Order: sequence, then C-alpha cells, then structure tokens
Amino acid sequence: MKITFLGTSHGVPAADRFCSSTMIEANGSRYFIDGGAPLIDILLRRGVDLDTVRAIFTTHIHGDHTNGILALADLFSWYFKTTSVDIYLTERRGIDAFSEMIRTVEGGLDEARVRFKLMTADTVYQDENIRVTPFPTQHMASAGRPAYSYLVEAEGKKALFSGDLSQRLAKGDFPAYALDNDVDLMVCEMAHFGVEEVRPYLGKCRAKTLLFNHVFPLHKLDEINALDGAFGYPIRTLNDGDEVEL
Ligand SMILES: [Zn+2]
Ligand SMILES: [Zn+2]
Repeated sequence: MKITFLGTSHGVPAADRFCSSTMIEANGSRYFIDGGAPLIDILLRRGVDLDTVRAIFTTHIHGDHTNGILALADLFSWYFKTTSVDIYLTERRGIDAFSEMIRTVEGGLDEARVRFKLMTADTVYQDENIRVTPFPTQHMASAGRPAYSYLVEAEGKKALFSGDLSQRLAKGDFPAYALDNDVDLMVCEMAHFGVEEVRPYLGKCRAKTLLFNHVFPLHKLDEINALDGAFGYPIRTLNDGDEVEL
C-alpha cells in the first residue's frame, strides 16, 4: 500500500501545510483518513483519477479533519458523475449537516453515489482491497462525542493512524493495538500532549516505523526528530507531500 500525506498540519493550516488528510492507495483504489485538507483541489492538481476514490474515513468531526469533505462531496454529487464514494463521519448530525448543505447549494444530493455513513465503534469496512477497523479514542470524550484511531490492512501490510488523542495517554489513550501487535507503520498525532508524555510508549510500541503529524507547537518537530533511532526503529515528522510505500 502506498500512503501519501496530503495534509499534516495541526488544527489550523500553515503556509506549507494543509489540515489533516492522508491518501492510501491499494490495488489501484484510493482511500482517505480524514479530509481536513482541500481534498478535491489537491486531487485534481495531482491528476488523480477521481473514479479511483472509494472511501473516506474521518477520525472525528472537528473541522481540521472534515472541512475538505463538503467540497468533494458536492462536486462528486453534481459534476463528477462517474464517481462513487463512501464517506464515514462520526456523528449523525454531521451527516445531516453536510447532506443538507449540499442539497441547499445544489438543489439535491446524489445519495446513490455519494454515500454518507455513520462510523461507529462496531463498524468494520472491508472491500476487495482494504480492511479498516476503528478503535475509540478519548479525544472528544469530555464532550461525550466519539473519535477513533484506525487500523488499515491492505496488501499484507498494517498501518495504524492514531487520529487525534487526548491528554490522557496515561489513562490508555495511546492506541493499544500498536503496543500489543506488530504494525508496519504507525502515524501518531502530536498536538495534545508533550513529547515527554508519549516517550514511555515509544519503547513499547511495536511499529516498524513511527511518523508524527498534527504537530503543535512547532518546536516539537526538533524534539521528535531527535528521538530517531532511540528506540530501534525510525521516528520522524511528516510534511505535506511525503509518501511511504509499505
Ligand atoms: Zn485535529
Ligand atoms: Zn480534533
């Protein structure tokens, strides 16, 4: 599987970073973890065949993970009529709001091709290319709202995406899957806790490579890159446009 980091910023875009979005290619089809970047614009600039877009999995409803989805869904619905996509949002009211906005601006939504679906802790997405399994995180727990990490399995490889976590790493919010299982890649956020707080988990983490995105404040970039090699596997920070082939 090929992973391209389209947006690596924290909650606000920067001069050289879009908000969170990662593209996964497996057997010629494309999948996304989060859509906080201006997805449709990026895909068109890259010359991506939009008919290869199969599904988008959002980790939670915050705008830095979802703001790019509205424009993509809108244009897929009324203009790019050979496209077909499943868009997983984490809250029903988000589905209602996105759907209603598209109906408002276009007069309709082609729900047969642009399918908003609810992600739950029990949802497992599987097609002929990929399997995506959610694990709840406590990122929005104080508001009683859901958020998820995702395990992506494709082409015999495993990649774990932390999504946004909480400050409660010590209460189990570091994704346990990466502590209990070998994964080829883990992508971890770094905005809601300090480098020192995540450090105890790095020695136990069973990822072959650990990449950090969603980094804030930016002085952590140097702190994270200084960890490379300290735990026996590569650790580094991500920039927009970075690609990883597993
Ligand atoms: Zn975020
Ligand atoms: Zn968030």
